[in-house]
Amino acid sequence: MKETSRKPSLPDVQIPEIVPITMQKFTQYFKGFEKVSAVGEIFGEATVQVLSDLKVEFFSSKFGYMGVSDEDGHLIVSAYYLKNGDPISKYLDVIHELVHVKQYREGKALFDETFEYHDRPTELEAYTHAVKEARRLGMSDPEIFDYLKVDWMSDSEVRKLARNIGVQPPPKRGDGERVR
Ligand SMILES: [Zn+2]
Repeated sequence: MKETSRKPSLPDVQIPEIVPITMQKFTQYFKGFEKVSAVGEIFGEATVQVLSDLKVEFFSSKFGYMGVSDEDGHLIVSAYYLKNGDPISKYLDVIHELVHVKQYREGKALFDETFEYHDRPTELEAYTHAVKEARRLGMSDPEIFDYLKVDWMSDSEVRKLARNIGVQPPPKRGDGERVR
């Protein structure tokens, strides 16, 4: 028996893999989140109420992951991502999006276009909270950096985002060759 790699393990939550393409109650599909301390830190005493009021809209595109509507604050989740994404990423994305749910409830503009994504205060707050949870799960900075990579951010944007939220980016390939 050899267990050398330390795998981050999730709290006792359920995230669905097969979902209907409709609007549903969050708690009908995402179970146990009201007991997660990282969620309690977001909503405090209102946690159970907020989650039980929260709606989730599943959509069928192969693109995209999760988001929050800036019109009524409901969660929007790709059914394809639920089916194919890795469990830790999906879990951390839920934590991230729940921060946006809170921001919406506070009346904040979720998509302030005067900032680029990797500098936008609402995103940095959501990422900072998700990264704190990732560390609690035992993820290392390289693992967290991998989680941050998405197809719509360039390498340099992901690195800026990582620095903005206190995650150490790995050394750039070819560093040292650029010295002249
Ligand atoms: Zn976000």
